[in-house]
Amino acid sequence: MNLPKISVLIILSYVLLACNENRINKQKDIITVFEKTAGLETATYPEVMNFYKQLANDYTTIALYEMEATDSGKPLHLVTFNPNRSFESEFSTAQKQNVLLINNGIHPGESDGIDASMMLLRDLAQQKIKTPQQTIIAVIPVYNIGGALNRNATTRTNQNGPKAYGFRGNARNYDLNRDFIKADSKNSQAFTKIFRTLRPALFIDNHVSNGADYQYTLTHLFTQHNKLGGALGNYLHQTFMPALEDSLAQKNWDITPYVNVFNSTPDQGFKQFFDSPRYSTGYTTLFNTLGMMVETHMLKPYKKRVEGTYELMKTFIAIAEKEAEQIKKLSRYSETGTP
Ligand SMILES: [Zn+2]
Repeated sequence: MNLPKISVLIILSYVLLACNENRINKQKDIITVFEKTAGLETATYPEVMNFYKQLANDYTTIALYEMEATDSGKPLHLVTFNPNRSFESEFSTAQKQNVLLINNGIHPGESDGIDASMMLLRDLAQQKIKTPQQTIIAVIPVYNIGGALNRNATTRTNQNGPKAYGFRGNARNYDLNRDFIKADSKNSQAFTKIFRTLRPALFIDNHVSNGADYQYTLTHLFTQHNKLGGALGNYLHQTFMPALEDSLAQKNWDITPYVNVFNSTPDQGFKQFFDSPRYSTGYTTLFNTLGMMVETHMLKPYKKRVEGTYELMKTFIAIAEKEAEQIKKLSRYSETGTP
């Protein structure tokens, strides 16, 4: 691993993008495929990338970075929203803001986060969402690029939309949400470099459920908090999670922990999912990052699921912003053992 080289690449990519004379800050109509189709369709991989290229071109708060290659041969991309970006500060160890990393399309058929993140970053850029000052938002637009390019309409037949979507396996048929610690795929290796460069305090991985039926559109699967150790784990479980639940309930977006039951009735209770480091949040927890998987409910209409994912991320950001100092303090304590 060569982090200095990555940093140089990142800065160079940014310089190239920043030199574009066409940057303007005025409001523009940049509409997603999801919105154009009234919530029935998800953007294809080229449409996602063109959308972010346009955003990065039009708004100085948005930057688009080309990272390392994935198993598909195509490079992973990273998009950031940062109103306080200076020439070299974005990924500097001296940066004062917390970073929230959002991962999308690890299972490309579960495309809710791909579309919700596009709207989220546009609305941040256009200041339709209150600008976070203490939190840099970093988004992987589509993590499983090979899977996204393998588009079909039949591999998630129980799911209520979108019309067509990517396949779960990547270009070499890996399930990438089992490969974080082993890192057999180039996607995982590229993720590791992004993760080590950003050192995010917070992490969201967007998914759609596969199994049980229930009323909720939104469920959360926070990392199993005891693994974060004393103060940080307690904070996630006792403060951050209830704040997210309460805040969403006030907006009529009830959310509950992810229900993972197979062939048994609720009378016997639900087991909490243990996210070992082969999973995204299990991996990020190794580095004292507050991680959460979002699982929207597959039987709910696509439009509602994407809108819920958008609202969830917006709410998560508002709490992260309000709690920025506390999160910084507890993360530092977990890392160094000193306040
Ligand atoms: Zn998934």
